[in-house]
Amino acid sequence: MKTLGTILFFLFSLSVLFSSSPELMVVRLENPHSSEIDRFIKQAGWDVAGFRAGKYLDLVLSQEQFEMLSLEYPSLYVTQTENELRSNILPGKDLAGYRSYQQMLAELQQLQDLYPTLMELHQIGTGWGAIYAEQGIAAYQNFNHAVWAIKVSANVHLNEDEPAFYFVGEHHAREPLCTEVCMGIMNHLLSEYGSDPQVTQILDGSEVWIVPLLNPDGHKLVIDETSIWHRKNIRDNNNNHILDYGSQGMSDDGVDLNRNYSYQWGYVYASDFIGDIMYQGPHAFSEPETQALRDLLLSKRFLAGISYHTYGEYVMYPYGYLYGIISPDRQELVALASEIAGLLPCQYNENHRYEAIQSFELYPVSGSMEDWTHATTGAFAYTIEMARQFIPPASYVPIAVQHQVNGAMALMNRMNRKILRGHITDATTGEAIAATVFVEQVDDHPVYRAPIKSDSLWGAYYYLLPAGLHTVRFICPGYATVTQTVSIDPNSPTILDIQMLPLAPFDLEIMVRDNYNNPVAGAQLCLDNDSEATYTTDDQGLITITGFLPGEHQIHVSKPGYGTLRLKREITIPSLTLTLSSHVIWGDRFEYGLSDWTCPNTWGLSSVCHTGNWSLSDSPDANYQNNLNSSCQIANPLDLQLFENADLQFWLKTDLSLDGDHLSVEASADNNSWQLLDCYTGSNDWFFCSCDLSDFLGGPVWLRFRLYTNRYGNSDGIYIDDVMVYASSNIVPADDPALSPDRLTIRCHPNPFSKQAEIKIGTKHPVPDCELSIYNLRGQLLLTFDNKCLTKGDNHYYWDGVDLRGNQCSSGVYLLRLSSRGKPLATGKLLRVK
Ligand SMILES: [Zn+2]
Repeated sequence: MKTLGTILFFLFSLSVLFSSSPELMVVRLENPHSSEIDRFIKQAGWDVAGFRAGKYLDLVLSQEQFEMLSLEYPSLYVTQTENELRSNILPGKDLAGYRSYQQMLAELQQLQDLYPTLMELHQIGTGWGAIYAEQGIAAYQNFNHAVWAIKVSANVHLNEDEPAFYFVGEHHAREPLCTEVCMGIMNHLLSEYGSDPQVTQILDGSEVWIVPLLNPDGHKLVIDETSIWHRKNIRDNNNNHILDYGSQGMSDDGVDLNRNYSYQWGYVYASDFIGDIMYQGPHAFSEPETQALRDLLLSKRFLAGISYHTYGEYVMYPYGYLYGIISPDRQELVALASEIAGLLPCQYNENHRYEAIQSFELYPVSGSMEDWTHATTGAFAYTIEMARQFIPPASYVPIAVQHQVNGAMALMNRMNRKILRGHITDATTGEAIAATVFVEQVDDHPVYRAPIKSDSLWGAYYYLLPAGLHTVRFICPGYATVTQTVSIDPNSPTILDIQMLPLAPFDLEIMVRDNYNNPVAGAQLCLDNDSEATYTTDDQGLITITGFLPGEHQIHVSKPGYGTLRLKREITIPSLTLTLSSHVIWGDRFEYGLSDWTCPNTWGLSSVCHTGNWSLSDSPDANYQNNLNSSCQIANPLDLQLFENADLQFWLKTDLSLDGDHLSVEASADNNSWQLLDCYTGSNDWFFCSCDLSDFLGGPVWLRFRLYTNRYGNSDGIYIDDVMVYASSNIVPADDPALSPDRLTIRCHPNPFSKQAEIKIGTKHPVPDCELSIYNLRGQLLLTFDNKCLTKGDNHYYWDGVDLRGNQCSSGVYLLRLSSRGKPLATGKLLRVK
């Protein structure tokens, strides 16, 4: 698809090159069909100006292109001409219009003199213009621009113990309203401090960082009317020392700054072709402007912020890089987006309001600021597409500014309710600790978002949460984990200060054994997902970690031929035994047909395989088709009832277009609602995949491979081989107290038994609602004892070998499982010999 896109783009470029009229315009297609959306949005080379599903699709075209396309779509009409946009830029009678870079900078300097205790001007970087001018390249002497950030806060010169907000304008040059709105927000905060109680409270309690003009070089091309359609920055892509801005935004130079961020950089609705309007740059964060913003956003604890664009009248929230990727914070992201959207009247109908949507609903985009900021900092990162034109008339600027000021105030007011905040300190020294704040049901969501942490300077943490009860764990290596149940107040901040008890470091010895109790040599262990904290077991299956910081850790242990073990545990004792299971509960190497699978008939066996003679492919004999949403799933669910760890492994070979075609691996507990385990795109030779199934322990699980393709691209597709599900129930041998000194023990006497066995369960604490069940080796439930509360010490059960229906069970091994309120506590084995 990449190749195809490039060829299509090349043809398109030629038509631009030979276009007789340099004058461009925005044309509208009303009620676009999905085929038109696919044609113009998903295919490289078109300059899509705006889009609203079911309503309109706007394109930037030359007169000649407009005439050509009108033959196909007679209803096409012009909404914005180049002359209109040019005249909109100009200041009108009594209207200030749009600021140039110089006007903006002069105003910022004046304001700093006027509000010396409230505002601080920081140069955070430059554009390429300043870099090239410095190198003495003549074409860039008038492009000596800096990227400015303005800090607005009470006691602005102090680094105070406060959260921060950001507002960023103009990633895209032809969207100058963004700079106006950022300047408007800043002016509002400065002029209203001390008189408007909301503004006063926000500036007393937080830092507001405003970057009004991220793309100053591109802005100059637009404001000077040199190239009014310019979108990108001015990176000299072809290294000719000439500024190639072309007849429209589609110039050889420049990078689309909002495709240049590193999170999920470089595959969906971004281009690797330098002339494309969505050119993503040679690598992530290749641009001085995005580097400057990245460094600012990493330097503070940003709670939330907005990146402004034109146009469309949307408030968009993460994620946006693929269809269906839902953030762990979705509930509150949506609530705040809807609140802000409700405050923003539309440009042409003041009775209508902006729409709150998840970013991928507009169209998926990779490498955006929004996704990177949310994933990397945890901030509630919004994108607002303002107005209905790139450059609305100067008369509309003050109206748009007033509306957006209201939206920005609502965003910042979010810190006054439904927030958990406080300080985390060392219980003995009182010093600040950088600890992770882990909220159950939020942070255990499968889609990634950086963990929320307290800062090391103040120990302060901030967490925007839904109102109601939450279980929160405060985790830091070297400290005992603190678990608290917190009720989040819907109307005011919920403050919770935490003191954590330090634990002395020790040398941790980890023994890795298999399920037959033999040592496993050469297993890889990774601590806390830190690639630098990886270890390999020796011939005795041993790893020693010197100076280990006790506390809660994530441990991954893997070795080919075994299920990957994923643990999140409090480790407080210096020796630990882990069991790697080679127990495969289900597998398919695709050597004997597809009877275990339910697939559309396009799927089938292929001789392109990883092992043996066959693999599973979405399209064995041909390229895949367009517009697919095609799933191949296992015919019967797997039973994970008895297990404490489960891992899906397979080998995969892919040849998928990088424009959004992807393979999702999904699991479901009810064969109805599916959870994404992982997704893959691009071209890759056979590689190994491992997916955690721990969310599905304790019940049935269905698995499927889902291929999603768009209208363009006819690549080979995917091959899957050697699918295995590993599972184990004995993560820790029941008699090993190392991991959890409070672990319950199950002892049976006599074992083997003939007539009656005594099952003794020992616990150091009372445990409510305990359920003891007995299963046979096929996983069938034979008997459940009545729920009871375990008391401290030994608790006794007796089994006479009879199941629920009163039948005598035959000789053999039986599995015991103890749980409380659905949570597994302990397992054991019992042998009957008649
Ligand atoms: Zn934009």
